Amino acid sequence: MKKTVNIIGAGLSGCEAAWQLANRGINVNLYEMKSVKKNPVQNLDYFAELVCSNSLRSNDLKNAVGTLKRELELFNSLIIQSANECAIPGGQSLTVDRESFSKTITKKIKNHPNINVIKKEVVSIDRECINIIASGPLTSPLLQQEITNIIGKEYFYFFDAVAPIIKLESINMNICFKKNRYDKGETKDYINCPMNKEQYELFYNELIKAETIDLHLDDETNLKFFEGCMPVEAMAKRGFKTLLYGPLKPAGISNKDGSKNYAIVQLRQDNAKDSLYNLVGFQTNLKFNEQKRIFRLIPGLENAEFIRYGVMHKNNFINSPILLNEYNQLKSNQNIFFVGQITGVEGYVESTSSGLIAALNVYQLLSEKKMVSFPKTTVMGSLQSYIINTNVDDFQPMKANWGIVENLHIDKKIKKEIKKELYSNRAINDLQHFIKLNKFN
Ligand SMILES: Cc1cc2nc3c(=O)[nH]c(=O)nc-3n(C[C@H](O)[C@H](O)[C@H](O)COP(=O)(O)OP(=O)(O)OC[C@H]3O[C@@H](n4cnc5c(N)ncnc54)[C@H](O)[C@@H]3O)c2cc1C
Repeated sequence: MKKTVNIIGAGLSGCEAAWQLANRGINVNLYEMKSVKKNPVQNLDYFAELVCSNSLRSNDLKNAVGTLKRELELFNSLIIQSANECAIPGGQSLTVDRESFSKTITKKIKNHPNINVIKKEVVSIDRECINIIASGPLTSPLLQQEITNIIGKEYFYFFDAVAPIIKLESINMNICFKKNRYDKGETKDYINCPMNKEQYELFYNELIKAETIDLHLDDETNLKFFEGCMPVEAMAKRGFKTLLYGPLKPAGISNKDGSKNYAIVQLRQDNAKDSLYNLVGFQTNLKFNEQKRIFRLIPGLENAEFIRYGVMHKNNFINSPILLNEYNQLKSNQNIFFVGQITGVEGYVESTSSGLIAALNVYQLLSEKKMVSFPKTTVMGSLQSYIINTNVDDFQPMKANWGIVENLHIDKKIKKEIKKELYSNRAINDLQHFIKLNKFN
């Protein structure tokens, strides 16, 4: 079968979709505009760039995102396969060297005989061809306009934030120390900056009154941060102790002599060379000079050299519960599919899953087979179900979590950890059965 699909955007969802289709004999035109014009958070020339954290989160199957990765592996996911190849120490998380991760994916995509990479900004969609729109949360403005023409609805929008990165050699290791929370994992992957109460008070008081970048929002209610990526200063403004239960949580990290700290800032390795570290949970909208001044108040970071400052950016998503069916296909034009963050899933792994689901359905469509809905007992299927079945008024991007997976009716007395294991086992078993049934591998 030699049929062609246009995919717009070589990010996480677009690359995964291209890979799945190309491996099934479909020709793919993969459009990417990066080399013509980058968006404000892109730094690399390669595909599938991780624009903020370099972590694909937990590998623990008891965690829904851990199970989601296992589910994707059952389909030989390009993104998860490449992440495993480019993994660097990250405790229980799948953390990658962001450059080699993107480079690896770009190479595999460019070398695939069924994928034709086209370097250009797409500004109009050919309604007569099959298109997968994978242009992400920062879809270029001209394409946004075109999408608005197609769906006939205005975008929802809100803002997201990126954490700063500093040089390892500028961290004062006489003050900071390496240790994982609760000593989890075999290697010591995190650098910890300990704070006593006075140091925390000083830092806190400067942080809440620091100058932020003006986002020029007409209507404050449009400023909806998603909880997982809330700017550190916004979190601090919720109360003196809020950070102590969030990114500055001291639990599980005592000093060498066993003494406890009032607060801890954690730094996570950002590259394979182990020369750069990001401030975990420090996504921010502070002005750059304020970031330098205030983050240098953190003990051990008094001379921190910033490689990249934190920034905040626009994040688009469409009204999927109104617009899409369970195959990620536009109800009003069956030639158009949407995938990735633009559909309202949230996160690198979740976007990958969305690209994979749509690609398999496009394949079914082109091979004149029935399109398929994924079991709601799996993390893949539950995310998909979430974005099309949620109340339109409450629709907000969603990460993988057990709360959206179909209930498992078991004894309420069963321990939480065991329950999660049961959910995970069921998800993987059901997906294996689904794959066999539909002959997907
Ligand atoms: C600032 C920011 C920080 C984020 N941080 C995290 C995080 O730390 N962890 C996490 O799990 N998730 C994070 N996300 C959310 C999300 O998971 C990622 O954005 C993820 O990359 C989304 O995947 P995607 O495939 O939907 O889009 P992307 O990976 O963004 O890919 C979209 C691609 O489309 C291209 N494109 C756009 N318009 C056009 C056009 N007109 N023509 C051709 N190509 C086009 C872009 O250049 C890009 O390469 C963040 C999002 C943002 C905006």
